[in-house]
Amino acid sequence: MSGPVPLRADLRTLSGYHSAQVDVAVRLNTNESPFAPPEAWLDELREAMGQIPFNRYPDRTALGLRSALATHHGVLAGQVFCGTGSNEVLQCLLLAYGGAGRAVATFEPSYTLHRHIAEVTATSVVSVPRTADFVLDLDEVDELMERARPTITFVCSPNNPTGRAEDLTTISHLLEVAPGLVVVDEAYGQFARTSALDLVREGASGTERLVVVRTFSKTFSMAGLRLGYMVADPAVVAGCEVVVLPYNVGSVSQVAGRLALRHSEVVEQRVQQLVAERSRVEAALAALAVTSWPSDANFVLFRPDHKPATKVWQGLLEHSVLIRDCSGWPGLHECLRVTIGTPYENDRFLEALTAVLGKDMAP
Ligand SMILES: *Cc1c(COP(=O)(O)O)cnc(C)c1O
Repeated sequence: MSGPVPLRADLRTLSGYHSAQVDVAVRLNTNESPFAPPEAWLDELREAMGQIPFNRYPDRTALGLRSALATHHGVLAGQVFCGTGSNEVLQCLLLAYGGAGRAVATFEPSYTLHRHIAEVTATSVVSVPRTADFVLDLDEVDELMERARPTITFVCSPNNPTGRAEDLTTISHLLEVAPGLVVVDEAYGQFARTSALDLVREGASGTERLVVVRTFSKTFSMAGLRLGYMVADPAVVAGCEVVVLPYNVGSVSQVAGRLALRHSEVVEQRVQQLVAERSRVEAALAALAVTSWPSDANFVLFRPDHKPATKVWQGLLEHSVLIRDCSGWPGLHECLRVTIGTPYENDRFLEALTAVLGKDMAP
């Protein structure tokens, strides 16, 4: 026998998850923070790195980091599990609670990686559409839970790429009707007014099946670090510990995450600044007669009604402004998503969009 080894048959139609990485002046396509991490954090990290015994494996349980996160959120260290980005946490959940013969539920359109990791782990995916406002449709939710009995239900809140957060009453309802884990992906949680972490802290009914996933990639300005975590019942943490690779969080990440939590006030100020910029961008889009959807996150979904979305996306790129073209995604016909950047970046985006749409910017 010779020739290439065939890929697993169920993976042949999949491709890896990517977002374009093009060299442009204004990069507003992956919802990162436009700000560098706090200078003081970097100084503390440099100092702490001098103390790391690099010839030794890291603390496998990452207890120092988990304890710091637990204190930060008012929970116990045994309820916290960390990963190389929150994406690894999601993958561990799928490995432990998904797999062949099991189903996960998603509400579309939503973060495509939930579906992708499910497919990679041979878990079947069952989905229902969101409402016209892109929130969960409770009748559809009830019908899906009854029909598919998913072992994991993913809720992205605030939802990427559409922007709105779910009410906590919706999360509570899901905890009543979902037969398996309810995983609330709060990658943008700091931008929303409420968090499913409130339900965990209250010990509300059904919270033994609630998992809240968070990341240092967005509000903490540390996408390059690759650090994420979940807050869940200790039994779910134990389940993830069965499947995770040993030493998955390196010594540098453990100390970097711990130190980052000392700078939460800076992060909170930046959240407020981005929220104010978001309002400004939303108002400017409205002035350009572009349809946009309300956002509880650091991005805005919009639809340029008078020009094809892909043409607009391309036109912006010619102005060295990169945003996300969602127009080919199911349920997002003609939609684009822009990340909120610095005031300068947002101005560049709005100027370019005005030029591309061929209209004068409103005063
Ligand atoms: C950006 C994002 C993440 C972050 O993934 P990391 O692996 O932590 O960088 C997770 N979930 C959603 C919905 C996101 O948009």
